[in-house]
Parts: sequence; structure tokens; C-alpha cells
Amino acid sequence: MAETRHTKVLIIGSGPAGYTAGIYASRAMLSPILVQGIEPGGQLTTTTEVENYPGFTEVQGPDLMIKMQEHATEMGCDIVGDIITDLDTSKRPFTAKGDSGTTYTADAVILATGARAKWLGLPSEDAFKGFGVSACATCDGFFYRGQEIVVIGGGNTAVEEALFLTNFASKVTLIHRRDELRAEKILVDRLMKNEKIEPLWFHQLDEVVGDDNPKGVTAVRVKNVKSGEITEIPCKGVFVAIGHAPANELVKDVLELHNGGYVTVKPGSTETSIPGIFAAGDLTDHKYRQAVTSAGMGCMAALDAERFLAENEG
Ligand code: FAD
Ligand code: NAP
Repeated sequence: MAETRHTKVLIIGSGPAGYTAGIYASRAMLSPILVQGIEPGGQLTTTTEVENYPGFTEVQGPDLMIKMQEHATEMGCDIVGDIITDLDTSKRPFTAKGDSGTTYTADAVILATGARAKWLGLPSEDAFKGFGVSACATCDGFFYRGQEIVVIGGGNTAVEEALFLTNFASKVTLIHRRDELRAEKILVDRLMKNEKIEPLWFHQLDEVVGDDNPKGVTAVRVKNVKSGEITEIPCKGVFVAIGHAPANELVKDVLELHNGGYVTVKPGSTETSIPGIFAAGDLTDHKYRQAVTSAGMGCMAALDAERFLAENEG
């Protein structure tokens, strides 16, 4: 049944930023409501080992996020399985509409909606999404046991995905548009030592080739960015790992943005261009985009919201 729930602080998103905001806002006795969205736990639920979150030499991404959720719940955060479809920032209290039919009103809002995988935008990529084309190796790698796979990209995600996919695939070709990887050195070293991985430099995906019956990928056509020459590589799986775009749909027309859609916050703060609306994590950050920096910003957002509410009480 449709209902309206009021909270002092509404947190939108359940990645490291959202859950950390939930912990701090609960401990500040603000009784926050946190709406999880379509991906409870956020991006780290799509990876395996996380080796750089302080306190854990190695932890599985989904396990880390369950621990954060439990921590927030334990502190008193009300965690709700819903998706915010609309946010009215024109007057306080702010109003958010949930996909469930629930309306949330809030004196302050913390946006922690993170980022989502980018796609190349090729019609053939779209046609084979879910039928051999994926953006999540941990979700889909298992389907490619003993098969040849290609990974597109040269950042941390592409290199980690290529390494992870060697657990299943007979061969992984990493296709990158330059001859230099953006990924961290430790990952690049692992990639170069892995005999199952073959980098293909200065190439871009031109077309995904496949069959309709049964529907599936059989090869990719790749273009040499220097000569324009097209070659075909047989493969059963195509993993696109070319970065992430901020999930700014709720606020893209009302908040100040930078670097192609990241929400702008005042330096050293999580204040956005609308008083009472705070933003944290990958949604705001085109530069660091790490779990620990997102968690740190989640903390800052809760402290900023607490101060804002104290100053605007009554
Ligand atoms: P996200 O984790 O992106 O979470 C966003 C949340 O917002 C989700 O819960 C989503 O459901 C929710 N949401 C979105 N829209 C709505 C809506 N309309 N209503 C309600 N909720 C909504 N970082 C590291 O530090 N170490 C690593 O080893 C590492 N590995 C990674 C591996 C992969 C494959 C990827 C993709 C990223 C990795 N990162 C790693 C980066 C790290 O995952 C991100 O920096 C971090 O998750 C960002 O946290 P966040 O809280 O800002 O947002
Ligand atoms: P990224 O760092 O932005 O890298 C994207 C890669 O895709 C780049 O190599 C880029 O090439 C390539 N690319 C972009 N658009 C392309 C296109 N149209 N065609 C072909 N190639 C294209 O993204 P990411 O690897 O997803 O990482 C995102 C963030 O998460 C980063 O901050 C990263 O550090 C973090 N992360 C961290 C870890 C970890 O700490 N272990 C793991 C995963 C992700 P160019 O290099 O030529 O630009």
C-alpha cells in the first residue's frame, strides 16, 4: 500500500558511501532511512577479491558489502529495498518517490548513487548483451569454461576482469586502444605474467559477430586504430570494461555537474549546489573512485547533514 515516510536524513544508495553515511547518521541519532536501489551493496558486489580496503588484506567484494550493511543496521539505520524514481529538490522537506509506491520526505538528502558500467554503443554489442556480451566477469565468467574470451579496456576493471576470467577461459585477449594500460602496476605485472592472457594493443572493437539460432557470439571484428585494418578474433564471450558513468539521473537537471556528469561538491565538503542535498562517493568523484574514498565521503556527508540540520532546526 502507498505510504509516506518522513526522515531527517534520506540516504539514496547502498555502496560504501551510502552505508558509511548510514552508520554515521545513525550514531548522530538522525534515524536515517537508506534506500538500496537496484544493486544492493553497489559495484563491489560485482567483483571478487578486494585487496585495498583497510583492515582486510583480502576480502570478497560481496562479503565486504554485507558487513557494511550489517554494521549500518546494527547502528540503527533503516535499510529499505526500494528504488528512487524521482526526487523533488525544489522545497524542503525534499520529496522522493519510490518504485514501491512509497513517498519519502526528508529534511536532508545524501546522494550516494555511485556509477554504472559504460558501453561502447555499437548496435552489435547491444544485440548480443546477455548472449555473450557482458560488463560483469564475476557475474558471467562461469559460463565460458574452456572458451576463448575477449576483454575490452585498459583500466583496473579490464585487467582484473581479464585475470579473473583466466579461471574459466582457455584464452583471454585483452583489447586496448593504446599500448599502455591505465591499471595499477601490481595488476599490470600479474597480467603480463599470465600465460592465458594475450594483449592486443592499438585495437578497438568494431563489431560483435554471432549466430541467431542459438543466439550467441562467435567472434569479434577489431580495427587497428593506426592502420584501419580489420581482423577477426574467434571468441564466445566479450567483456566490455571501459569505465563507469555517474548515476546522476535523479539530479542531472537541478544540480551543478562537472567532468561529464559528476555531481559537483564544494571543495573539502559534500555540499552540492542545493542546501540540504549532499553527495558522496563515485557520483561526485571522477578521479579516485575507490571504495575507501567513497566510504570517507559517506562519513563526511553524514557529518555535513548533521551540521546542516542543527543550523536549520525549526
Ligand atoms: P556504488 O558502489 O556504485 O553504489 C551505488 C549505489 O546506489 C547502489 O547500491 C545502487 O543500487 C544505488 N542506486 C543507484 N541509483 C539509485 C536510485 N535511483 N535509488 C536508490 N538507489 C540507487 N574499489 C576499490 O577500492 N577496490 C577494489 O578492489 C575495487 N574493485 C572494483 C571492481 C569492479 C569490477 C568495479 C566496477 C569497481 C571496483 N572498485 C574498487 C571501485 C568501487 O567499487 C567504487 O569506487 C565504489 O563501489 C563506489 O561506491 P559508491 O558508494 O559511491 O557507489
Ligand atoms: P577507467 O579507469 O576509466 O578505464 C577505462 C579504460 O577503458 C581505459 O583504459 C580507457 O582507455 C578504455 N576506454 C574508455 N572508453 C573506451 C572506448 N570507447 N573504446 C575503447 N576503450 C575505451 O575505468 P575502470 O577500469 O572501470 O575503473 C574505474 C574506477 O574504479 C577507477 O578509479 C579504478 O581505479 C577503480 N577500480 C579500482 C580497482 C582496484 O583498486 N583494484 C579495481 C577496479 C576499478 P584509455 O586508457 O585509452 O583512456
